[in-house]
Amino acid sequence: MYAKVIVDVPAKQTNRAFDYFVPEAMRSWVAIGSRVGVPFGPRKVQGFVIDLHTRSDLDPSKVKPISEVMDLYPPLTPDLVQLAGWISRTYLCHEITALQAMIPGALKAKYERHVKAADDSLGGNGESGQFAMLLPEQREMIRYVRDKGSVQLESLLEKFGSDAALIKQLMAEGLLYEVQMIKDRMAAKKVLTVFPADNAELLKEAESQLPARAAKQKEVLRYLADHPAPIKLTELLHELGISAGTVKSLADKGLLTIKEVEVFRDPYAKRSFAKTRPLPLMPEQQQVYGRISRAVAAREHRVFLLHGVTGSGKTEVYLQSIQTCLDQGREAIVLVPEISLTPQMVERFKGRFGDQVAVLHSRLSHGERYDEWRKIMLRQVSVVIGARSAIFAPFTKIGLIIIDEEHESSYKQEESPKYHARDVAVARASQHDAVVVLGSATPSLESMHGTLAVSAAARRAATGGMPGGAPAITEAGAAAAADTALNERVPFELLTMHNRVEGRPLPPVHIIDMREELRTGNRSMFSRALYKAIEERLHKKEQTVLLLNRRGYSTFVMCRTCGYVAQCPHCDISLTFHQSSRAIRCHYCGYAERELTVCPSCGSEHIRHFGTGTQRVEEELGKLFPGIRVIRMDVDTTTEKGSHEKWLTMFRNRQADVLLGTQMVAKGLDFPHVTLVGALAADTVLNLPDFRAAERTFQLLTQVAGRAGRHELPGEVFVQTYAPEHYSIISASRHDYRSFIDKEMTLRKLHQYPPFHRLILITLSHEQIPLLMRTAESMAVRLKELAKESGLSQVEILGPVASPIARIKDRYRFQCMIKYRGEASISGLVKRAVASFEDVERQHKMTISVDVDPQVLM
Ligand code: ADP
Ligand code: ZN
Ligand code: ZN
Repeated sequence: MYAKVIVDVPAKQTNRAFDYFVPEAMRSWVAIGSRVGVPFGPRKVQGFVIDLHTRSDLDPSKVKPISEVMDLYPPLTPDLVQLAGWISRTYLCHEITALQAMIPGALKAKYERHVKAADDSLGGNGESGQFAMLLPEQREMIRYVRDKGSVQLESLLEKFGSDAALIKQLMAEGLLYEVQMIKDRMAAKKVLTVFPADNAELLKEAESQLPARAAKQKEVLRYLADHPAPIKLTELLHELGISAGTVKSLADKGLLTIKEVEVFRDPYAKRSFAKTRPLPLMPEQQQVYGRISRAVAAREHRVFLLHGVTGSGKTEVYLQSIQTCLDQGREAIVLVPEISLTPQMVERFKGRFGDQVAVLHSRLSHGERYDEWRKIMLRQVSVVIGARSAIFAPFTKIGLIIIDEEHESSYKQEESPKYHARDVAVARASQHDAVVVLGSATPSLESMHGTLAVSAAARRAATGGMPGGAPAITEAGAAAAADTALNERVPFELLTMHNRVEGRPLPPVHIIDMREELRTGNRSMFSRALYKAIEERLHKKEQTVLLLNRRGYSTFVMCRTCGYVAQCPHCDISLTFHQSSRAIRCHYCGYAERELTVCPSCGSEHIRHFGTGTQRVEEELGKLFPGIRVIRMDVDTTTEKGSHEKWLTMFRNRQADVLLGTQMVAKGLDFPHVTLVGALAADTVLNLPDFRAAERTFQLLTQVAGRAGRHELPGEVFVQTYAPEHYSIISASRHDYRSFIDKEMTLRKLHQYPPFHRLILITLSHEQIPLLMRTAESMAVRLKELAKESGLSQVEILGPVASPIARIKDRYRFQCMIKYRGEASISGLVKRAVASFEDVERQHKMTISVDVDPQVLM
């Protein structure tokens, strides 16, 4: 048997499967998706088995055997292996990078150098010969290594201090040799557990026979006779106030056994979740649920785009749809943006499905995440709720995949593999004949485009197979055949819920023209209307949410005398002031310096640290409303583990009047006493050089407005802006998604932007501008040549131009943009173009990165 293995060496030359022989003894363990250790050149590396064959095209004597199998069960399923291939071809990344993204960090290989002693290192008969000639210390080393079997090189060096040379000599003489070991970064957690002999009578009899001075042992036996279930050793010791020795001596007598048992680190172990029952659905919910559950029951691959206004009860629809899926014996994946994955959110799922739910997000420790993932592997759960990468949960019978807040840009991973979870979800669901539900109050233009009433076949013919923005890139050969099924996209079906639950009204939204405020002499960051509204809430003991876009207010350091702005010496970006550490910092490379007291340029003392915008707002609130209780949530106040949750709980318990924050406060929160929402600077995102600026503004305002009046108390929203006539702001204030989407679609079409055209961004970076410019220039030329050769006359190659952030970590950046209509052959073209710069990349340490369907154009 032969295995095709993708090795853990992310490089172009190794981005293909290598053949290995599967030794007889391993055959029952090796499967598609297995993690194996294989010899690779002089080293041993980790790899993934992606296929098994009975023969190899290579000369059998040249095929090396697999040296070890890393897991009892393969950590990846065959469908995930296939998906990894698709991801690597669609997003143009190494296949190993895609495979690695699918397993928890704990399983990423850690390579350790160990030494072993040669079999004859002690000499022929006992410790003689060559051995006898060694220094006493060297003999000591060999004995030590032999005793241990193998010793990590570093720890041997440490133990024998200064004697690296002596070890080297032993290696040169072949008495010690180096081996490479592949270790997991994290192991399953095990605890010592006491298993009493399962015959209670026997325990009682033994107890009566023990002498009276063995009182402690007698007590243990009596306890175990009454409590026959296995018990953690520590618990038993604590319970009876005894020592481990007592238990040990009983084990020696054969009355109990002590074994190591795997346990799960459960981050939610200490919390109990009140069981919830399905709510009777509102008519719109019922309709939507009906459509989804019928598709799930029919085991059809369908994609639903659920447009439901804020507070329309989407979560209840998700929960009941999941129940339908579980009733069929199938599994469900729920994706939620990292930032909305609050305990409140988890509670809604755990409350309904209890222990059947695993939770995956980045605030868990490595160990906790690994254990949640193992619960999925071991089929102990059937629902997983998590952030982006939970789409790779190793389930085998997926019936339903839900993506909440599907428009969120955080579903796109910004580092390689630069995949979009929405598109991966659709591909994965098609493998399982599963249903996808994309839910949002403000669906993305890409997803809306996917619902346009064009037949799937017609769209495929026209665009090479893409639905709204979903990738459809294939290559020639077998891989392309494998991908065809995954690229076959069904049109999305639009489901709508126009009304809030129980007919609660959407809150009225007032647009406030801040230019007018200024004209009438109000220089404060609060308009008079918003000021009055906050005052009123304080009187009525109701709560207020205030939103300030992160990019909204200046956080930089500026000299008011000469206009100097503190810049990172390594990146073309201004430094940000952090109040808590009184330091100024670069968000891209981490460079930091002490706050400035005089201007380094003109020596003036009129240098101002603007602080994060939210800090200024907090100060001003304190001045305007003495005694006001404000909770501020931004990057500075939420870095500590658990702080995010802490603030939200405090606010829920009404320990504060105002929740003030960045985007964090706009997403998914549901507080009954919030009756006022204020967006302090609604238009700041509008000014970013990004074609999605209007869409992001509309989404953010709709989301934050949706926080008001979700329960019995009616709500009210104030939007402060300098661009009150902008269509994104007007549409958001009228809760009019339709008019926004019509206008925005028209503009995107006119300017040939996604979802009508698609983009691939190629970014090159290097320390020296001339070489960088030359290379970027020839990259563009090369792309144009190839496009012409392939008859892709419609494809536009834009650039090169300097990237909006022109330098990061002392490396300059240039970009080329490819604008196309979804032609399938484009990926092969880009791959070939990039491949022709391999030498430059290697020789000159040029970095070339490719981003398919980029979300961030900086
Ligand atoms: P969305 O996610 O669409 O913004 P939620 O799912 O958070 O809305 O629901 C809003 C509120 O309505 C929640 O408090 C939820 O418990 C409640 N709710 C949802 N469905 C029903 C129903 N059928 N009957 C009563 N209350 C409901
Ligand atoms: Zn100055
Ligand atoms: Zn920097």
